[in-house]
Amino acid sequence: MQDCVFCKIVAGEIPSTKVYEDKEVLAFLDIHPKAPGHSLLIPKTHYRWFYEMPDELSDHVFRATKRLARELKENHGADLVQVSIVGKDVPHVHFHLLPRTFATAPEF
Ligand SMILES: [Zn+2]
Repeated sequence: MQDCVFCKIVAGEIPSTKVYEDKEVLAFLDIHPKAPGHSLLIPKTHYRWFYEMPDELSDHVFRATKRLARELKENHGADLVQVSIVGKDVPHVHFHLLPRTFATAPEF
């Protein structure tokens, strides 16, 4: 999608620090991290909201999110990895993955 920052990252037009990539998804470090290792995982195809993705893609995105969450938990000595799925600020669905400790994890 034209003028989408995340599509430009996928296209390599905007640099990012990649933490995971495969055929359908890309994950990179958040430029304004709220925790060490704070990463964003996105489908390479533009959708605004997660529920707009075809099932096959959302299944893949969720599996990739699980795998990255395990890696982040291990690499950052976190107690858990908080995930939130948004498309508000940048209108391209993105999964925030935040390694947290029990002391820093917010209540929901
Ligand atoms: Zn996009």
